[in-house]
Amino acid sequence: METILKLNNIHKSYGNKEVLKGVSLEVKKGEIISVLGPSGCGKSTMLNIIAGILNINDGQVILNGKEVTTSKKITPIEKRDLNMVFQDFALWPHMTAKDNILYGLKLKKTDERTMNEKLARMVDLLHLNGLMEQYPSELSGGQQQRVAIARALIMSPSIILLDEPLCNLDVQLRIEMRTEMAQIFKDLQTTVFHVTHDPSEAFAMADRIVVMNQGKIDQIASPQECYQRPATAVVAGLLGAGNHISAKIIAKDNDMAEASVKDAKLQCLNFSNEKDVLLYFRAEDCKFSYQPVANSMPIEVIMPTFEGGTYRVKAKTMAGEELTFLHDENIAKSTMGYLSIAPEKIYAYEQPKN
Ligand code: ADP
Repeated sequence: METILKLNNIHKSYGNKEVLKGVSLEVKKGEIISVLGPSGCGKSTMLNIIAGILNINDGQVILNGKEVTTSKKITPIEKRDLNMVFQDFALWPHMTAKDNILYGLKLKKTDERTMNEKLARMVDLLHLNGLMEQYPSELSGGQQQRVAIARALIMSPSIILLDEPLCNLDVQLRIEMRTEMAQIFKDLQTTVFHVTHDPSEAFAMADRIVVMNQGKIDQIASPQECYQRPATAVVAGLLGAGNHISAKIIAKDNDMAEASVKDAKLQCLNFSNEKDVLLYFRAEDCKFSYQPVANSMPIEVIMPTFEGGTYRVKAKTMAGEELTFLHDENIAKSTMGYLSIAPEKIYAYEQPKN
């Protein structure tokens, strides 16, 4: 499939602080790419480089086969075939929704008939009926968001950049909008480069997720692959594997391994070349029992907390390391029991070196 955007070994520093350390990726036509990473990992910097707002120290940005940014030259945003949807929507406050949406087409001196046809399509697609004469201050957050997306989509750019597009909406609206947006982009076969710190937004929207960590890419894969086989401890932590305990690898078989923890041995998915590892796993993947079962380890309950429907239970291993699991019944403090986790849901990574 045709490549729309290519980042080639991008390096970017602010002063002597390097914030992008050789980032390379490709976005194919019609693909929705979500860049996910903790705050400060370099997501906005990357987006602004693609947009032509920021220069780089080394590497290339190639859009539709043409170099648009190198360390020596930078093609400005208005000369790039892309549109950006900002966090705060950035609508013109003194223009109606209609004038906001048509702004770019008017600049291009598009004829009235074409503009009206395109506008009607956007109104229909984004459920903006009856809102065209309203000013942004008269629209709800969700409606402003739709207008901002319509303003970008109406230009039919080869790629749309989305900067944390839902972070100013309330939770319920965010959940509705992310599904709706992804559907519209897919229907129109729009290529999208989306930046977020919210894993559920990336899961819901992306064809592929790019997980960033401190200016580098840790993993590029489908949402399912990132969730089921997080390539690094940072990816695992970001995607919900909040438990980590020390262990030693004692046997390996391809990507599976046997790891020993105090008073137990656990089969796990191994991502480490070292013997000393941390085992990562999710609270929701742990099953509690009073007797040992396959792939289980002994634990002692520290504190259960009722969360409505389920209990979130804090416990400790025989080595005294704390962990959390979910259980549908209350378990008294100090109860001794076992936690079992399926081997393919335990991920072993090298211990961080200090
Ligand atoms: P993210 O979008 O993932 O939160 P950013 O790209 O905004 O990350 O920032 C990456 C790093 O670069 C952070 O450590 C941030 O403090 C730093 N940074 C961002 N902009 C500037 C700037 N204009 N000057 C100096 N440092 C900056």
